[in-house]
Amino acid sequence: MRAAVLSGGRFSIETLPDPTPGRGDAIVRVSACGICGTDYGIFTNRLLPDGVVLGHEIAGEIVALHDGGREWREGDRVAAIPLPWCGRCESCSRGQENLCQAALTYMVGCSTSPGGLAEFVRIPTSSLRRLPERMSVRHGAVVEPAAVAMAAVRLGGIHPGTRVGVIGLGPLGLFAGLTARLEGALVSGVDERPTRVACARELGLGAFEADGLATERIRELTLGGPEVVIEATGKPEAIEMAGQMARLGGRVVLVASYHAAAKIRPGHWLQRGVSLLPSIAYGPGDYDAALSLVTSGRLDVARLVTSVHSLDDVQTVFERFTTQNDDIKLLISP
Ligand SMILES: [Zn+2]
Ligand SMILES: [Zn+2]
Repeated sequence: MRAAVLSGGRFSIETLPDPTPGRGDAIVRVSACGICGTDYGIFTNRLLPDGVVLGHEIAGEIVALHDGGREWREGDRVAAIPLPWCGRCESCSRGQENLCQAALTYMVGCSTSPGGLAEFVRIPTSSLRRLPERMSVRHGAVVEPAAVAMAAVRLGGIHPGTRVGVIGLGPLGLFAGLTARLEGALVSGVDERPTRVACARELGLGAFEADGLATERIRELTLGGPEVVIEATGKPEAIEMAGQMARLGGRVVLVASYHAAAKIRPGHWLQRGVSLLPSIAYGPGDYDAALSLVTSGRLDVARLVTSVHSLDDVQTVFERFTTQNDDIKLLISP
């Protein structure tokens, strides 16, 4: 099969042996694989050994099974959960599967376990979820980032009427904002890119361009600051900004990937009683909730998927990752 192999900080298209299904596995022909900040972080910071195949936002069609039982057949259209929750550790037993260290260590496409930037990928059938006929298989790739957003919104404790601020209106920030609004929250966000601000407004969210006054505008609009601020830029300096934006006693949820140290003024956080909640990954409940938002059309995925590229474009897509102004969610179709 053709795969985008990452070695020495560059992707090259190589021919690898086709994967074969072990007991409990399916082989999925990848229809689309999303690219996100996590992949970009691995790429720029060289976090994984040479020879890996990235891609954890996967949707496609089953082409081979070891034994699908009664549930699965070849040709079934699926989204794949990349996290192999162990189901036995303390986190899994407590219902905090998102903290399962085995799952985070062996995550498909974020470890040496090969991912979806390839024609085929091996996935345990227990990690597959069916996609309805009426939706595009490609759009199934968006369920994964939507699950990340869903988990952040749940951790924030968002209810009808909760005022929410979102810093960073990329895919994660937009998904989080839209999910929060579906929960009945009042959402306003900020981003440096005018195209993303425009997109957020088009989708019915309040949005401002980052210009030094945006934090004040959002604090005014929310009558003293949002109860929950979702930080989705991954920029260390945005954490302090989120703390300043939040209202007294508010909560800041971190949901992006962070690779550098942050400077915060802890005294201000203490005096204002703002808490910091890290949200990594998601559990099965979040994934299934996100799946239902996407498959029901309550989350308008078609508007968020702004471009689809071929496997040959992977290197270029990553090189332009931070400057592709007009893109919201970018998919690779291998
Ligand atoms: Zn991702
Ligand atoms: Zn576990």
